[in-house]
Amino acid sequence: MRLVFLGAPGAGKGTQAVKLVRKIAVPHISTGEMLRELRGGDSPLSREIAGYLDSGQLVPDDKMNEAVRARLAKGDTAGGFVLDGYPRTVAQAQALAQTLSENGQTLDAVVFFNLHRHVAVERLSGRRTCESCGANYHVKFNPPKNNTCEQCGGELFQREDDRPEIIKRRFEVFQEKTADLVDYYTNKGKLIEVDATAGPQEVYSRMLKALGLSA
Ligand code: AMP
Repeated sequence: MRLVFLGAPGAGKGTQAVKLVRKIAVPHISTGEMLRELRGGDSPLSREIAGYLDSGQLVPDDKMNEAVRARLAKGDTAGGFVLDGYPRTVAQAQALAQTLSENGQTLDAVVFFNLHRHVAVERLSGRRTCESCGANYHVKFNPPKNNTCEQCGGELFQREDDRPEIIKRRFEVFQEKTADLVDYYTNKGKLIEVDATAGPQEVYSRMLKALGLSA
């Protein structure tokens, strides 16, 4: 299956992508994760990326399109993929369609995780992320035992862009740049909407049903 996961910050795209790829055995391609890995270094590129990430702004389309094109050229995507956080603009969606058509492929579906903004803000502001493996916890809904990662023992931290003023900016960016993709993919007959206002397991069941997959 070739899928795109779309949704505002905090909608649970990453959490659901991790669960789904375990079931259908395709790569999980998170552009946010790709960028967070790149920002680690001390090069001009790392500093440039850190600037976008920490301010909640989007990385320019041409850079993202190139990075995703290169990632999709890898052999492990032949049987499908889950794209999490890309495309985020109509220009990125057009570039993706072009890349796929050059490979003789199309998207099967775009899953839009829809939820109220106040729920998303509560999720994001309580999120804690493992610095080693990227696993997510929540101070209230999924508190880590001993304040360390239960999967790898790594230290947990609050993402710079999960601070209140940056969360606000990320929502504005979503409204300005990404929300148009809902209509874009609806018009292409690809959009599947999932109500994401529930716990991870319930949202997962709703998504499987919407995709016509067995539990
Ligand atoms: P995410 O982990 O998907 O919430 O992404 C975190 C941040 O990475 C975003 O706020 C953007 O700064 C950047 N980013 C991720 N995906 C994209 C994309 N497709 N286009 C531009 N910037 C992106």
